[in-house]
Amino acid sequence: MAKLISGKAVSAALRTQIREETAALRENHGIHPGLAVVLVGNDPASQIYVRNKQKACEEVGFRAFEYRLNENSTQEQLLDLIRVLNKDDKVHGILVQLPLPKHIDEQTVILTIAPEKDVDAFHPMNVGRIMIGNYEFLPCTPAGVMELIDSTGVDLNGANCVVVGRSNIVGKPMAMLLLHRNATVTICHSRTRNLAEVCAGADILVSAVGKPHFIRADMIKDGAVVIDVGMNHDENGKLCGDVEFAEVEPKASYITPVPGGVGPMTITMLLKNTLHAAKLMNHLDD
Ligand code: NDP
Repeated sequence: MAKLISGKAVSAALRTQIREETAALRENHGIHPGLAVVLVGNDPASQIYVRNKQKACEEVGFRAFEYRLNENSTQEQLLDLIRVLNKDDKVHGILVQLPLPKHIDEQTVILTIAPEKDVDAFHPMNVGRIMIGNYEFLPCTPAGVMELIDSTGVDLNGANCVVVGRSNIVGKPMAMLLLHRNATVTICHSRTRNLAEVCAGADILVSAVGKPHFIRADMIKDGAVVIDVGMNHDENGKLCGDVEFAEVEPKASYITPVPGGVGPMTITMLLKNTLHAAKLMNHLDD
C-alpha cells in the first residue's frame, strides 16, 4: 500500500510560512506584497481560479488586485493595462489568467509582463533562466510537484524519473527541475514508443497528460513514487487525474491523490513567487 502524499498538508505548511514571512515583511520593512490578477472574458473555470487565487492572497496577508476586461477587449487594451501594472509599485506579481480569447495573442501578452513581476514564470526570459539553472521564479505546478517529492524524503540523485507530457507549463519545466536535482530524466509524449515499458522503469513517475485512466498498473515499477498532475473529468463528470488510482496505488510507495495532491500546490507556489518578487523588488532577496 502506498503512502498518500497530501498536497493539502504540504500546502498548508507552506502557506503558514508565507503568512509569517509576509507579516514580518510588513512589520519590519513596510512592504505589503501585492498580486494583480487579470481576467479577460467570462470563462466559468477561469472565474473560479481567479477567485481562489484572490482568496489565497488574502489569507496570507497579500493585497489582491483584480482586473476584469470584457470578452471583446482588444489586445492593445490588455497590453496597456499590463504596462500600467508593470510600473505600479504596489504590484509585485502580475498574473494574466489563461486561456485568453482567440483574438488575443498569448505570447505577446506574456512578453509584455515585466520579467521581475512574472510570477507564473512564463516569460521567455524566466523560461531561459530555468534552462540554465539560474532562476528567480519557477512555474507553479512543476515547483509544487518538487515540493511534494521532497516531502517524501526520496533521494532524486541518479533516480530514474519519467515525465509523461511535454507542455511548456508542466512537462518541459518539470523535466528540467528534476534534471537540476541530478535525476536521470526521460520525457514522454504522444509519439513515444513503448510508453508502458518506459514508465515501468521509473523510480519517480510524473504524469501530465490530461487523460483519465491513462496510467495503469502495468506502467508502474514496484515501489515507484507516482505524481498525478492530471485534472480531468471522468465519464460521470467527477474530477480525476491521469492515474488509475485503485490499481496503481498498491504497487507504488508514494502516490498523490486527485483531488488533494498537486492541485492545492499550484496556488501556493504562486504565493511563494509573489512573496519572492516583493522581496527582490525591495532588494531583500533571500
Ligand atoms: P497539454 O495538453 O498541453 O499536454 C499534454 C501532454 O500529454 C502533451 O505533451 C501530449 O503529447 C501528451 N500526451 C497526450 N496523449 C498522450 C499519449 N497517448 N501518450 C503519451 N503522451 C500523451 O496539457 P498540460 O500540460 O497543460 O496539462 C496536463 C494535465 O495537467 C491536464 O489534465 C491539466 O488539466 C493538468 N494541469 C493541472 C494543474 C494543477 O494545478 N494540478 C496545472 C496545469 C495542468 P504531445 O506533445 O505529443 O501532444
